[in-house]
Amino acid sequence: MAFQIYNTLTNKKEIFKSIKKDEVTMYNCGPTVYSTAHIGNFASYLMADLIRRYLEYKGYRVKQVMNITDVGHLVSDADTGEDKMEKAAREEKLDPNAIARKYEELFHKDRKKLKIKDALVYPRATEHVEEQIEKIKILIEKGFAYETTDGVYFDVSKFPEYGKLSGNKLEDLKAGSRVDVNEDKKHPADFALWKKCVGENEYHVMKWNSPWGEGFPGWHVECSVMSMKYLGETLDIHTGGEDNIFPHHECEIAQSESMNGKKFVNYWIHKRHILVDGEKMSKSKGNFYTLADLEKKEFSPLAFRYAIMSVHYRQQANFSFKSLEDAQKSIDRLQEFVHELMSNPFRGPSEGGDSYVEKFEANMDDDLNVSGALGVVFDLVHEVRKNKSKFSSEEVLKFLKKVNSIFEVLVFEEQVVSKGIKKKIEEREEARKNKDFKTADRIRDELLKQGIELKDSAV
Ligand SMILES: [Zn+2]
Repeated sequence: MAFQIYNTLTNKKEIFKSIKKDEVTMYNCGPTVYSTAHIGNFASYLMADLIRRYLEYKGYRVKQVMNITDVGHLVSDADTGEDKMEKAAREEKLDPNAIARKYEELFHKDRKKLKIKDALVYPRATEHVEEQIEKIKILIEKGFAYETTDGVYFDVSKFPEYGKLSGNKLEDLKAGSRVDVNEDKKHPADFALWKKCVGENEYHVMKWNSPWGEGFPGWHVECSVMSMKYLGETLDIHTGGEDNIFPHHECEIAQSESMNGKKFVNYWIHKRHILVDGEKMSKSKGNFYTLADLEKKEFSPLAFRYAIMSVHYRQQANFSFKSLEDAQKSIDRLQEFVHELMSNPFRGPSEGGDSYVEKFEANMDDDLNVSGALGVVFDLVHEVRKNKSKFSSEEVLKFLKKVNSIFEVLVFEEQVVSKGIKKKIEEREEARKNKDFKTADRIRDELLKQGIELKDSAV
């Protein structure tokens, strides 16, 4: 069956077809590194990891790029307010660059704990300012952007398709806008490509020279420029959280398609926001968690990984500590099963599990129906335990390893301790306790002959 995925651009499930035959290009909007990434951020990156890993399961090579926003993301979506980086720098009494590196490092640390695969590159906005200036110049030359007293803005009226991703209409955006603080903008929906260090940005610390004076790039332009640089002008997949749809992704489309005269992205995939204990996550409600908060409560990062991945990405997952406990139980059940298969192999017909593989893939192919796919895995566990003669443990393990190449929560130890050996180790422990060293040494030598070396700690 062909892999189908829901495309926010067309509002329907579509058969996935990559531009190049065996390769997929995927760009993910990454973290703004002004504070510790929270579990809601990671839910979006876990979705990207799930997509990548399933595409790899299907034999594609995935070229993945995730940006690091370290300048230009303002507190307000309306191109006003302080730069999030500079605000954090002021509050923590650090240089904005020090803030960026501190939270970027933390992000990678948490990401690795969550077994989110490495992207090809994590480009930083601050290291691509020259390229952003070049592209802004092109937009001005082509008549898609104009300069004002405080910056350079994209002229949305020049891009009639503005709104095609989010469904917003220009006239509604105009009617819905509050008193426009920026009198120089032609349309309230026009967005900043470049901000000058004037007015409220007079004391902006991070600044670069440009044809429009000292300033810094707007937030949206980095994603167009960096995705193009590393992946080409048209991408197979672009992901983000649902809050990125508007204005961020809408603006990325407008800039990129105006610059290149080409479609920017074939498949837009968005992660629905997670709730925490049934409510929207917010600092004031005290339900705002980072991975460190979960670890403090002794939850494994992998339990979080499983809890998020096992709910469909377009469904509103309700995160709670109970959901982590349940996730851990599911992982433990599967892990136990893996141990059973490895320590007591059995040889039935090798095709016993084939129908399960098919059903698993049919679910995953259907817009990543993970709960259906995992349901198939647990059915298989049940069926194998009930009726071993129909299966081969080797084949079942092979399948579980493939499943785990996507979910990455299980361990497959090559050398597992069988029940017989376990019993011998226990007997020896008992002998040591009773100071029966003769027996203890005899068992130790027996085990050594089987290639198992025991290292004793003090009794
Ligand atoms: Zn972005």
